[in-house]
Amino acid sequence: MASENENPALKPTPRRGFLQTLAGVGSGAVAAAVGWKVLQSQRAEAASIPPPLAESSGSVVLRMQQDLEVTLAGGKTPSWLMVVDTRKCIGCDACAVACRAENPTGPAGNFRRVIKKDLPIGPRPWAIYKPANCLQCDDPPCARAVPEDMILKRSDGIVEFDYDKLKGPSAQAAARACPFGAIHVDDGKTFTQSTPRPQDYELRPFVENGKTYSRKPGANPLQGAARKCTFCSHLLDVGVLPACVTTCVGGAMYFGDANNPGSLISEVTQGRRVFRGHQNLGVKPRVIYFEESMPDTPHIDCSACHS
Ligand code: SF4
Ligand code: SF4
Repeated sequence: MASENENPALKPTPRRGFLQTLAGVGSGAVAAAVGWKVLQSQRAEAASIPPPLAESSGSVVLRMQQDLEVTLAGGKTPSWLMVVDTRKCIGCDACAVACRAENPTGPAGNFRRVIKKDLPIGPRPWAIYKPANCLQCDDPPCARAVPEDMILKRSDGIVEFDYDKLKGPSAQAAARACPFGAIHVDDGKTFTQSTPRPQDYELRPFVENGKTYSRKPGANPLQGAARKCTFCSHLLDVGVLPACVTTCVGGAMYFGDANNPGSLISEVTQGRRVFRGHQNLGVKPRVIYFEESMPDTPHIDCSACHS
């Protein structure tokens, strides 16, 4: 079922990290001495890590928009890939707000969230922000948990839910099966339903997975359906980038066609170390993260939270 279009330029993620190294060495003075040496060598290594792109986020978006138009004009099936540079994410939540505005969801969940991880390391507080949404897995555990006609894989890689079928117990099963917590079950509620006048932005018609819906309390066709990020496929199909990508003020988001070697997404991933969640499950995600530490904190990278 899956169409595998992995970018060959992406290197597998080696296990590294100051904390892991220390844990393997032991405790006390020996560990401290060895840890210091490791820190020094990792600092030297960090000096050779390419810094974040100098371009402003606006120029990056413009380039990705041009790439998208080239892909659609070429007429070939794309292989969509999303890449996140957590070094540039400032945790502003603008992407999550834009996502909710573009894809009406209710209080039960949102397609996009930004996870904050506090790292009490060193003399000053540290936090890493990890934006997250459905990873559009090429071998999706959610699809393995339900009858095969409920979750489909588009040829461009997007995992598409059939909201008319994926309801009730099947919706719950799909949500439980997702290792990333990317699915929520629509409970039919709106934020403003108990106010004198429910707001139009919650009731407006919108397109999702090729169909038009409207979430009206008491008449919501999506009530009980499993819902998740679609890479804004309704926008992509008409030549517009996903809402979270165009909104990112930090320039942390990259998106494009991995089948196009001339695209920015191919350029920025060339030769880079990347982190893929739950690699042991073999899900083959299409949302990946640069696995590089901040220039001045070589001891903090993805391995600080992920073993
Ligand atoms: S991230 Fe979760 S919802 Fe998305 S395709 Fe993978 S298993 Fe399914
Ligand atoms: S909009 Fe960009 S910088 Fe802000 S939280 Fe989302 S990914 Fe991070």
